[in-house]
This record gives sequence, structure tokens and C-alpha cells, in this order.
Amino acid sequence: MSDIEKRDIRALSKDEIKDFFVNNGDKAFRAKQVYEWLWSKGVHTFEDMTNLSIVTRELLNNNFVINHINVDEMQRSSDGTIKNAIKLYDGNIVESVLIPTDKRTTACVSSQVGCALNCAFCATARLKNMRNLGADEIYDQVVVAHQQSNLYYGHPLSNIVFMGMGEPLMNYEEVIKAIGMITSDEGLQMSPRRIMLSTAGLPKMIKRMADEDVKFGLAVSIHSAIDSKRSKMMPINQKNSLADLADSLVYWYSKTKRRVTYEYVIWDGFNDKKEDIDALVKFAKILPCKINIIEYNEIEEDGFKQAAPEVTDAYQKALESAGIVVNVRRSRGKDIDAACGQLANKHK
Ligand code: SAH
Repeated sequence: MSDIEKRDIRALSKDEIKDFFVNNGDKAFRAKQVYEWLWSKGVHTFEDMTNLSIVTRELLNNNFVINHINVDEMQRSSDGTIKNAIKLYDGNIVESVLIPTDKRTTACVSSQVGCALNCAFCATARLKNMRNLGADEIYDQVVVAHQQSNLYYGHPLSNIVFMGMGEPLMNYEEVIKAIGMITSDEGLQMSPRRIMLSTAGLPKMIKRMADEDVKFGLAVSIHSAIDSKRSKMMPINQKNSLADLADSLVYWYSKTKRRVTYEYVIWDGFNDKKEDIDALVKFAKILPCKINIIEYNEIEEDGFKQAAPEVTDAYQKALESAGIVVNVRRSRGKDIDAACGQLANKHK
């Protein structure tokens, strides 16, 4: 078999690897050894699996490849944020970001090459060439972030957010597999409580996650609580109304008992009026939530502008007097285009 025909062994589950060994007259327990080499030790070649016999290593070599990511370029912001351009085995590039604060380091990882959702304000939407990332490609971004956190900040990675390129709920299976490895004993042993998945809001998938009793947190990009406006900024709202979204989130809360985080950007002349504030307050009261007002990061030629600080203040006041928790977030890594919505492989 040529390397192109061989399967990526990291796309196989432990049971599939076990079956492979048994079918080839080898021992079932090899699967556990190989799995550890692949995931917790992260080797890039079968030769490195030193507790396997030469015959076993050859068997693997003849049937599989080990795909892995490579950091193509690393940039550091004046505020300490790190952005990685990551080259995949097929030459595609995605970006991941590492954000240090006093108490923690957060990795922001990508789930797709490009994105199909076309949100009007997001740089990733301008990219073509969309494909889903494999679970191993998502996992590897976290491994890189973990190593960089130790190296540059002197402490391990503490949190992961799926807020990089792509819509994680449109690559659900691989994202779930990756989270499984990130949290498992064979992988990075991180707590799912420290992982947050951010979605533009796909009600069906939100219900599915609730049914599957996932243990990570959920963030939803709202940006307007008025359907006609939200549909303009986020075309996905045209077929998935705010009412359907709210319905799925109520279901999520009833199953998981975890409050949802809403992400919200305030644009000049778009959602800066009293009716916008009132709509958000009403929407936020439907279920326990927390609102993150995030700074708008300008991308080229989109014509959008962040609203004046007084508007943010008005939002904050109205939400707080309605008893809703609200954080106003400042962007990080803007000087290297590493902030929310700026990931667009610009270095190439
Ligand atoms: N597809 C997912 C995750 C990727 S985007 C989602 O939609 O949630 C991560 C966050 O960045 C989302 O809240 C998104 O709305 C926001 N975002 C996108 N472009 C932005 C920009 N130019 N400025 C600020 N936030 C932006």
C-alpha cells in the first residue's frame, strides 16, 4: 500500500485497533499500548513505539500512517496571546490561539477549515475551502497549546474554548471524539468543566447534546434577540429562529442544569437601540444564563463598527437591573489578528 492509500490510525477507536490486531494474528492487548503511544505520548512514527516488536511495527507501517499537525507559524501578541497557524497533513491551514490571564490559560481551537455559516461580521466566513477537522487534528491543537502554556507561561493549560474557526456543531462527531480524548485518562485528563463549546445556534444539535448528557459548557452567539436583525447578521437564523433556539436551550438547561453563556457584540447603528436592549433582556430571562458582551474586532471592508461605550453601559445596566450576570470582555491578541472573528489565515 502506498502512504496515500493507508488509513490514518488515529481515526480508529481502541476497539477498531484491537480488531485489527486480532484479525492479523497479533495480541489484542497491543491495542492499549498503541493507543497510549498515539494519544498520551503523541509519537509521530511507528518506529517510536519501542515496546512493540519489529514485526508488529512493520505490520502497522504497512497498513497505516500517523497524521499529525505542524505549527507552521507562531506569533506572539504584545499582550502575551499566542496565535498558531497550523498546517494539516493535506496542506490546509487552521489557526488556534492561546490566551493567558492571571489565573488561567485558555486555548481557543478550530473545528473546521473555513466555515459554512457566513456570519456577516466574521473573517472566517470569507474563507473558502471548507472541510471538517478530524478528532486527532482538534486534539493536537490542544496538545500544542498545552506545551506552549508550560513553555511560555510556566503553567499548564487550564481551559479550552471551541471558538476558533468553524462551527463545532457542524462537525459534531469529531468534536465529541476529541473532547473524549482530551478528558480521558489515555489523553490529557482535563476536566470537561473546563471546556466550552461555542455555537451560532443549531437547535437540533443542542437538544442532541443535552440528550447525550455532555459535561462541557455551552456558549451561544446571539448578537441580536430580534429575529429580523439576527437573520441579517447570521443567516443561520433564517431557518432556526430565536424561539426554536430558546426552546432547545430550555431543554439543554432542564437536562444539564448548566447555565448557558450568550456572546453578544454591539454594533453602531445595528443593535444599539432601546428595543435591542429590551429584546435581549427578555431573551435572557427565559433560562439561567450569563452574558458576555464581546468587543467587535474590525475585519477588512465589512463596514461594521463597534457601538459607543455608552451603549455598552446601557446594556450592562439594563441586564444587571434585571438580575442577569453580564461581563464586558476586552479583546486579546488584536495586533496579530488573533481576536474573535479575526482568524482568516492572513499570514499566507
Ligand atoms: N461558530 C461558533 C464559534 C466560532 S466564532 C460560533 O458562532 O459561536 C467565536 C465567537 O466570535 C462567536 O461568538 C462569534 O460570533 C464571534 N465573532 C465572530 N466574528 C467576530 C468579530 N469580527 N468580532 C468579534 N467577535 C466575533
